[in-house]
Amino acid sequence: MSAYAVPVQVPVVDLPLVVAVRGPSKSGKTTLCVELVRTLEAGGVRTGWVKRTHHPLDLPAKASGRVWGAQPSAMLLRAPDRRQLTLPPGSDSAEDLIAAVSHHADVVLLETHRPEPYPAVLLDGSQPAEGEQVVAQWHGVGGGQDLEELATRIRSLLPHDLVAARAIRRAREFHGGRGCPGVVLGARLALAAADALGLALPDTGKRLLVVAETSRCALDALVAVTGCRPGRRTLRVDDQGKLAARFYDLAAPRAVRVAALPGLREKADAAFPALERFEAQRLAYALLPATELFSVRPWPFDLTESDLPGKPHARVECRVCGEEVSDGRHIEDETGFRCRSCAGR
Ligand SMILES: [Zn+2]
Repeated sequence: MSAYAVPVQVPVVDLPLVVAVRGPSKSGKTTLCVELVRTLEAGGVRTGWVKRTHHPLDLPAKASGRVWGAQPSAMLLRAPDRRQLTLPPGSDSAEDLIAAVSHHADVVLLETHRPEPYPAVLLDGSQPAEGEQVVAQWHGVGGGQDLEELATRIRSLLPHDLVAARAIRRAREFHGGRGCPGVVLGARLALAAADALGLALPDTGKRLLVVAETSRCALDALVAVTGCRPGRRTLRVDDQGKLAARFYDLAAPRAVRVAALPGLREKADAAFPALERFEAQRLAYALLPATELFSVRPWPFDLTESDLPGKPHARVECRVCGEEVSDGRHIEDETGFRCRSCAGR
C-alpha cells in the first residue's frame, strides 16, 4: 500500500473511529465522503458524517420552521426516507459534534478544512499538521488511487470483530469513563457466553438469566451487554470475587459458566509490550480471541423456582418483625415464618 506511507500508530478499540477528511474548499471532500460512506456501509461498517457549516440550514418553510422559531430544546421530523433530529447548535468542538452521532456509527467521517486531533485523509496536496496522523494523501481516483483501497485502509483501522466492539461501546457508555480493562473483559465474557448458548445479545427474548461472580467493573458490562437487570430478576450477584459468571438459558434449559483465564495481565503485557499496562490490557481484552481469554464450561441448571423472573412465588409475614418476605427467602420451622434477620441468619 505504497500510497499510504505514514502508518496510524495505535489500533482503535473504542468506537467510533473518527477520520478527518481534510482539504481546502472545493477540493472534493464531500465527493470523497459520499463515496466512502457508500463503500463502507456496503461492507457492513456503520458510517456517520459530520460537518460544520456557516450557512443557515434550510428548514422547510412550513410547520417545522415555525416550531424551530419558538426555540424548542429538540425537534424531530420523520419523513418516509429519514428522521431528522434538530438540536440547538451547542459548541463547535469536533468532540462534541462527534458525540452526537457516535452511538450510531462505527466510523465517523469529519469533513473539515482545519486540522483536527484525528487521523486524516488529506486532499489536494494538504500537508500534515504537527502531530497529525495521516491515513492517506488523496489525489482522487483520477490521480491513480483506488477508492476501495482507501476504504479497506480505513476498515483495517477498526477492530476486526465489530460485534464485539459495539458491545464494548455499550458497556463503556453504561459504566462511564474510558472503558477500563474490566469493562472490556466483561463485555467479551458476555459475548463468549452468548456464543456458547447460541443466543443473541442483548437478550430480548427473556431467555437469559445471569449470575455474576463479581461485583466490580465487569458487572456493569454484563448488565449493559446482556440486557439482563437485577430489578427484572434476570441478573444477580453471587460475589465470589472472580471475573466469572454463570449464564442460564431458561428456554433450553441449560447453563454455562464463563471465567477469565489465569495470567491474562501477563498475556496482555506480552501482546502489547510497547504500551502501558492499562492500555495493553484494554487492547488485549478487546482484540484477543475469546479462547485465549476465557474458559467456557457447562454448568448444572441449578436455579430454583424462587430464583426465576416473574411474580413473587411466595409471600409471608415474619412473625417477629412483621415485615413481608417474598420469593422464599424466609425461614420456616415449627414456630412459623421468620425473616432471615430475625432468625439470626
Ligand atoms: Zn423479621
